[in-house]
Amino acid sequence: MTERHKEILLVPTPGLRPLSASSWAWLHDCTDWGYSNSGLVVSEGQALLVDTQFTLPATEELLAAVESVCLREEIGLLVCTHQNGDHTWGNQLLAGAEIITSVSGAAGLCHEMGPEQLTMLARSGGPDAAGAYVARHFAHFDFTGITVTAPTRTFQSRETVKVGTVLVELIDLGAGHSAGDVAVHVSDEAVVFAGDALFSGAHMVVWSGSLNGCIRACQVLLDTGAELFVPGHGPLLNRSGVAEIRDRLTRVAEEATRYARRGVPLADAARRIMAGHAGTWAHPERLFTQTAAAYAEAGVVGAPSSTLAMVEGMASLAC
Ligand SMILES: [Zn+2]
Repeated sequence: MTERHKEILLVPTPGLRPLSASSWAWLHDCTDWGYSNSGLVVSEGQALLVDTQFTLPATEELLAAVESVCLREEIGLLVCTHQNGDHTWGNQLLAGAEIITSVSGAAGLCHEMGPEQLTMLARSGGPDAAGAYVARHFAHFDFTGITVTAPTRTFQSRETVKVGTVLVELIDLGAGHSAGDVAVHVSDEAVVFAGDALFSGAHMVVWSGSLNGCIRACQVLLDTGAELFVPGHGPLLNRSGVAEIRDRLTRVAEEATRYARRGVPLADAARRIMAGHAGTWAHPERLFTQTAAAYAEAGVVGAPSSTLAMVEGMASLAC
């Protein structure tokens, strides 16, 4: 880790931290559900924002901080790294900005749970483990007033956009954490905003994507040659941090695939994997979603993929 990295890590959170000449990160060190990071690139009176926040007040707090760097009206482009609400439910506050994501990411929007549905689930806090899990992690968020705001433009593979004098590369990572993940690479400054292709200090959740896709995405991010990575959640990562995530996901995929081939029931496999791979990272119950994705990729019929089935699986491991 360089002296510069150490200096960045010392700033208290949540806060807007300078990463390089044109790049900033809005960082929560908190790895709990819903506290997502955002990114900002500013040059010559133009700005690009990477992801909004989970609620309107949280996005307002982010935009107020951004105004210390640029005018809100200068944000002409908002990149959505994926369609989960914790990265997109503040989009309506960027009226006038072009909202861009990948084709597969945009297509995934119709499968996402809406704010009303999540509010209902969190408040019902039903007697089952899944209801209690959702209530514990989401009931404290206020989703009032949110209008889910879809992307206005999509791209495939790679696209380069110019922000002032800075070239920014948008990378379509395909299915991994979600049905379509996107990373933002500021190549001249060796910075990557990875969205939920990277979780820092917590286990990766695999919703409707692919565990092998998550592993491939880590490698694509490393192949950019970047030195500093802003994960979707948790503290900044350097190259060895990204390699560690890739290697841990690989070990889980290998073990889960062995269980799948031997016909071990998914619930048993997930329990064994959590016992062996939890380590010190937060939310080890998310290993259920990694195991389920590996089962689906191994061709196990009936392996769950819906959001609710994933939450039920995590809840059963958490209790
Ligand atoms: Zn997220």
